[in-house]
Amino acid sequence: MELLIEIFIFIIGCCLGSFYACMGYRIPNKINTIKPSSFCPNCKKPLKWYMNIPLFSYIFLKGKCHYCKEKIGISYFLIELFTGLSFLISYILYGFTINFFILIILFSILSVTLISDIKYYYISDRVIIISVIAMYIIHFIFEKENFDILRYTITALLMFLIMFLIKILGDKIFKKESLGGGDIKLMSIVGLTFGDILMSFVSLFISSVLALIISLILNKNKDNIIPFGPFILIGTIIVYIYYVIYGINFLIL
Ligand SMILES: [Zn+2]
Repeated sequence: MELLIEIFIFIIGCCLGSFYACMGYRIPNKINTIKPSSFCPNCKKPLKWYMNIPLFSYIFLKGKCHYCKEKIGISYFLIELFTGLSFLISYILYGFTINFFILIILFSILSVTLISDIKYYYISDRVIIISVIAMYIIHFIFEKENFDILRYTITALLMFLIMFLIKILGDKIFKKESLGGGDIKLMSIVGLTFGDILMSFVSLFISSVLALIISLILNKNKDNIIPFGPFILIGTIIVYIYYVIYGINFLIL
């Protein structure tokens, strides 16, 4: 039975991943996310349902459009697989608990952002707003009257404000845009994840260290902009998993 649930969660993750990848491409390009249904970006022909099955279609079509044989980017396949696996791992770690749902919200934003921020330097307001609402709903459902809505809201607003100040400072120091608006808004999600200023700062710190390491590895010419959004989410996910396992004590470990 447990195995069946795990397979089911993996499949749900892959299907949502397919939708997230689609959002990641469509929102920055101002294409409606529901209609039109999937089409080939090259020949614009609409795809039949069997050309649209997560993971499988890419393999069966050998990564090419059925009609015009144009290559389909592997990013769809990778995001589907990534979302499926991340949902499965979250379930194996925590079962159907609040931790599972918070993790899959974070992984979902990451899946969309991996496409939209890396390809277009764009983090969608719609994705942020839906995630904020989802965070509140999950806390409400699982913590009921123990949900300290004021503390979570203040943490989210404070993190947003602090990130905004960091941006103003950064813009002055580096004399160019240091942080995007999306990165600032993302920090409110971090605040809503923990409801705790200290943990949110730890996440921001880990995210910055990760971004710094990766930019040092990748950055051959200095003008390269590294999208920060995915790092914020990866840092937050890492800190959240540690935080759930070890509590606040993990800072001393
Ligand atoms: Zn085509």
